[in-house]
This record gives sequence, structure tokens and C-alpha cells, in this order.
Amino acid sequence: MKLLRVGPAGAERPAMLDGEGQVRDLSGIVDDIAGDVLMPEGLARLATVDPTTLPVLPVDRVGPCVGQVGTFLCIGLNYADHAAEAGMDLPKEPVMFMKATSAVCGPTDNVRLPRGSTKGDWEVELGVVIGKGGSYIDEETALDHVAGYCVVNDVSERAFQIERGGQWTKGKSAPTFAPIGPWLVTRDEVADPQDLALWLEVDGHRYQSGSTRTMVFGVRHLVHYVSQFMCLRPGDVISTGTPPGVGMGQKPPVYLNGGEVMRLGIDGLGEQCQSVVRD
Ligand code: MN
Repeated sequence: MKLLRVGPAGAERPAMLDGEGQVRDLSGIVDDIAGDVLMPEGLARLATVDPTTLPVLPVDRVGPCVGQVGTFLCIGLNYADHAAEAGMDLPKEPVMFMKATSAVCGPTDNVRLPRGSTKGDWEVELGVVIGKGGSYIDEETALDHVAGYCVVNDVSERAFQIERGGQWTKGKSAPTFAPIGPWLVTRDEVADPQDLALWLEVDGHRYQSGSTRTMVFGVRHLVHYVSQFMCLRPGDVISTGTPPGVGMGQKPPVYLNGGEVMRLGIDGLGEQCQSVVRD
């Protein structure tokens, strides 16, 4: 299933794509694409619905594909080539950092650079949406805890992230720094999360072109690993790191300053497009 949320920010309706790509209204069946709806039982129930029996929903805006995200966790330096371009050592264990959940936005919403921003940057990433939560999740059964996958742009402000002291969270958390979607693609439709091409363009120039094959730590290990440190819950998002080609890694570096258009996508998970503006 491809599940999405459609409508004005904060008032999105749950929806699903039918076989012909039409958006169908799920609001008669569930309140939101969030929380327990993402548990195995919730998704099994949705899978019994024939989308052609649901009303067609006009699409004015596509919102974030998951509502009420509880924890937005990011993995840093999870592609060897990206760690090299960032001038950082390959981590022995996954690098984890948090993004404020108030950063979550829709896949075509404007990305707003925060006040004082001088080094806006992009990162296409595979997002993992948790279905069944838990602590101490076994690596062997870790994918049973995944509801599905989505495109994430881990938008970053490098000066805030690196030059302002402390943790990366400062440069990762501004409102609109976490576009997710357009769809949550359920796990059954993604044959191998470690074999997905991902790409990102700014103003038509392709900067990022990679594959989840070259992740240092794969999805199965990451779900297991993260759950050793926190309890995962339905609707949490783990963004799994970015391949090479971020602005910071260009020679000389290229940063977002407002006025640019970012386009990005992942095989089978859809595309995003954001105009960059200044706050
Ligand atoms: Mn990232």
C-alpha cells in the first residue's frame, strides 16, 4: 500500500493510492496515518480495504506521510563515501542524532532557511517508519517492526550544525527541515531496502546519486541498534543517512541561500520537490 495524508497543514486527511494512482479518502476508516494504524494489525486491516470503494480525494497539498511523529531519529555518516566527503572517520557504531519533530513537513512544502542561515544543505535519505515498537529488538526480527519506508530530505544548516558548538541537532531541526513522503510505502512492497537507488537535484543539477546497497549499517541493524538505547514506538521515523553529493562536499562547497528548487527521490518511494525560501 501507498499511504499518504492530503490537505492543509495540520488538518490532513488519511488517504491511499489505488492501482491507477488515484488518491482515495481513508478518513471513513481511520483517523490518521499515525500511531496504532501503523501496527501490523492496523496495516492488515487497511489491506482488506478495496480502494476503489473509497471516495476520490482532490489533492491540493500532500502533507507528511506520517502524522504525530513521536521520535525523529537520524543516522549520521552511514555511507562510507559521504563520511569521506565530510572529512570524518567512518564510525565503528552508528552515529545517532535527533531532529525536532516540529521540522516535519510535506514533500512539496517550501523549505525555509532559518534566520542567520548561511550554509543550507540537502541530504536525500531512506526513511524507516516504525510499526510495532519495542526495546531490545532482535536483529533477526527487526524488519517485523517496520511499517514501511519513505523519502526523507534531511535538510541541514551546516554552520549551525558544525560551527555553533554542541550537537548536530541545532543544524537539523528548523521548521520544514524534515520533508517526508509523498507516500509511506508499506514494507511488503519493498522487496529489499538495501537495494534502492536514491538521487537529489538542485536547480536541475544532479548532486546525489547513490544506492542503499552502500550503507555502512543496514536497516535491520539500525532498528535493532537504536532500540538498545530507546523504546521505539509506532510512527517513529529513523532516517538512515545520506549518500555522497551534499553541498558541503562540493569543491568548492555549494550551499542553499534561497531561490533554489530541490528535487529528490528513491526507487518505488516517489519524489519530492521543494522551493527554498528564507525565513
Ligand atoms: Mn542525514
